[in-house]
Amino acid sequence: MELRLYDTLTREKRPFMPLDPNRVRMYVCGPTVYDFAHIGNARPAIVFDVLFRLLRHLYGAEHVSYVRNITDVDDKINARAAEEYPNLPLNEAIRVVTEKTERQYHEDVDALGCLRPTIEPRATEHISEMKALIERLVAAGHAYVAEDHVLFSVPSMQDYGRLAKRSLEEMKVGARVEVAPYKRDPMDFVLWKPSKPGEPAWPSPAGIAAPGRPGWHIECSAMSWKHLGETFDIHGGGIDLVFPHHENEIAQSRCALHTPVMANYWMHNGFLQVEGEKMSKSLGNFITIRELLGTSKFGGQRWPGEVIRLAMLTTHYRQPIDWTARRLIESVVALSSFGHYVKGHKPQSKDLYPGFLAALLDDLNIPAAISELHELLRQIRPGAGRVVDAEHERRVDMLANSLALLGLTEFYTTVEQAELERKVSSSEMKQRIDDLIDARNLARKVKNFKEADRIRDELAAMGVVLKDSKDGTTWEIAR
Ligand SMILES: [Zn+2]
Repeated sequence: MELRLYDTLTREKRPFMPLDPNRVRMYVCGPTVYDFAHIGNARPAIVFDVLFRLLRHLYGAEHVSYVRNITDVDDKINARAAEEYPNLPLNEAIRVVTEKTERQYHEDVDALGCLRPTIEPRATEHISEMKALIERLVAAGHAYVAEDHVLFSVPSMQDYGRLAKRSLEEMKVGARVEVAPYKRDPMDFVLWKPSKPGEPAWPSPAGIAAPGRPGWHIECSAMSWKHLGETFDIHGGGIDLVFPHHENEIAQSRCALHTPVMANYWMHNGFLQVEGEKMSKSLGNFITIRELLGTSKFGGQRWPGEVIRLAMLTTHYRQPIDWTARRLIESVVALSSFGHYVKGHKPQSKDLYPGFLAALLDDLNIPAAISELHELLRQIRPGAGRVVDAEHERRVDMLANSLALLGLTEFYTTVEQAELERKVSSSEMKQRIDDLIDARNLARKVKNFKEADRIRDELAAMGVVLKDSKDGTTWEIAR
């Protein structure tokens, strides 16, 4: 069995071949640290954490390097620092804001069960690498100086736009109407810019006398180069980063380092929306990870980290996800059934459930992998003539190990479980289950047994077991 991954650059699923199996290298764009992370930010953190765990399983933990950067120089950070700490010098205020936000981000993603990446480089600690790349780009004719800025010359790169699959003409149409007068071409983008008085500033590259600071894109080219080399295996991030951020990372790295590719696989997680709408502060549906974990803002409930994690994983990572209270409730039900068997269980083996692993190897198909675990659970559950023997123990081992590979090891407390289950049994979840049972009964009535079985499977995937008798159909949370 081999791992296959979908590559955004080539638009195909390909067998994953690391450049060096003794050092598998992945880079994922990390947070800009100026405010609490929202649940859209939680998605790449969780998705690429599962990929990190899978790669560690396949190649050995010591052979996988996962780099996720921290953007600690940005206009949004400057604005927040000035607003929040008006009495501090700006540089001091920026330090306070970035350190505080970085700590909050770590607390949040830790609570979601994410492992820390191997390296978490900060942009401000890689200014010299950024300047080195910029000097190379200028020397090679891929960048130029104008009004104390350094700009990347997009027409200087033959195949710019391959990742986004857009032509230069299309991208020009999509570019901002207002184009800075110092740009030779509207598509050219900033590598370095002058700092305003009081803003963070470093000595500039390319013979510019005025102090300045880097543009955003160059930091990822610099940090991946420093920590993973000129070419590495996987580059990940949210789908919204494909253009312009990742397109520009590729342009900078390839033109400065003279390489045919920057990363061999480009992976992107899909969008996240909330209850069918785009998440935005103006719509009032902007949800931070902290709020979900700690307050009763969403669905009238405080949600344990593992519930949020599982809810995030039940949609394929490349598909858009609709974040709903119902989705969280379904995760509670599933975790209750799994936890009943694996909580406190000490596996005697390292075996994974084969169907589970096969699904993960198929471009990280986590929803299918979770369905496989529900199937395994059906085999584990006490039934007619089933005894607790060595085979049973092996199955519970496989269930616990497989859940652990998804980062589900803690499960929530008994008190939380009782509280959440009470909510489930009296909520819209009950309505949903009743609706599905009605639909299944109708399908059976018209002898559409395929549809009836499909609905039964859908319910099973939610951790709901049906009991048919001549008096009708009842259900219970699977144990
Ligand atoms: Zn990046």
